[in-house]
Amino acid sequence: MNSPEPAFFASALINWYEKHKRSLPWRDTRDPYAIWLSEIILQQTRVNQGLPYYLTFTSHYPTVKDLADAPADEVLRHWQGLGYYSRARNLHQTAKYISYELDGIFPNNYAGLLKLKGIGPYTAAAIASFAFKEPVAVLDGNVFRVLARVYGITEDIASPAGKKAFQLLADSLICGTQPDTYNQAIMEFGAIQCTPVMPDCLFCPLQQTCFAFRNGLVQELPHKAKAKVGRERYFHYLVLQWQGQYYLRKRTQTDIWQGLYDFYLHETDGPVLPEDILMQELQLLVPQEPLPRVKAVSESYKHVLTHQKIYARFYLIRLHSRLRKEIAESTGLNLFSVSEIEQLPKAIMIDRYLKTSVF
Ligand code: SF4
Repeated sequence: MNSPEPAFFASALINWYEKHKRSLPWRDTRDPYAIWLSEIILQQTRVNQGLPYYLTFTSHYPTVKDLADAPADEVLRHWQGLGYYSRARNLHQTAKYISYELDGIFPNNYAGLLKLKGIGPYTAAAIASFAFKEPVAVLDGNVFRVLARVYGITEDIASPAGKKAFQLLADSLICGTQPDTYNQAIMEFGAIQCTPVMPDCLFCPLQQTCFAFRNGLVQELPHKAKAKVGRERYFHYLVLQWQGQYYLRKRTQTDIWQGLYDFYLHETDGPVLPEDILMQELQLLVPQEPLPRVKAVSESYKHVLTHQKIYARFYLIRLHSRLRKEIAESTGLNLFSVSEIEQLPKAIMIDRYLKTSVF
């Protein structure tokens, strides 16, 4: 049997979707702002983990203008735990752009949406089809998997040639009359039925026409070349404490966690911070006094990002007095109470340390 015809494929998916879809708040709206929020959040995480973030954002910022007018730190704080903080910054900037340059009106088509910062082809297609019924095909991990298996596409999904092949196929399959439901259906089908590890092939409406099922290739498809191993980084945080308060600084450099707060950082090539380097750092920070002692060294915390693995240790240091003004200014360090720190946006690794050792 050959691969399914577009009309059969679309109607099988839509029928399946009507029976099995999960009830989710962003499916009951045509508001492009709510759809945009949900799609940006769901790029970071699974539905169950993303839902509380969606509810937090829509309750704090019911309109795009509310989000535009929110302080940047507060937006990052609400995003905390999702990772990829540049997406939160783009979200905020784009909300300002829509509110103040476009009079609060979202572009109502794929090409216009694609021009907005932080909105790529996937998100533009999702908003254009869900909010405005434009027949443009979404391509996310779930859709790649369904198409690769059903139509036997063996190209690497991460390669430019592979992406092109999938996009061509997806564009040829989009249902012209119900593009919104079709796009929702194929993504939901990939998330629930045609799952990565144990797809439910036995009760699948596409089983008879599915290339991977007929050829015993379900576990082999989609094909994705192995990612390169990311670099390893070793962070040593000097947690400077003075009278129950802590020195933190905002990360401003072009690096991970830009805009988030952390402690004074010394980075090394290997896991050990040599004693003499630690002493040198302390001398720079508190030149006027006898050097304070390190009160406690934490265990090693590990955090895995897409292209990097971060290992961090925290060295708790009780200062005898405040940092000199010029040193605080040159290092960007500011003194915060514990309750103030709780409100700051922080990388999840910093939060984990604080919850274990400070809060
Ligand atoms: S038969 Fe299995 S692999 Fe093929 S579409 Fe259905 S669930 Fe996916």
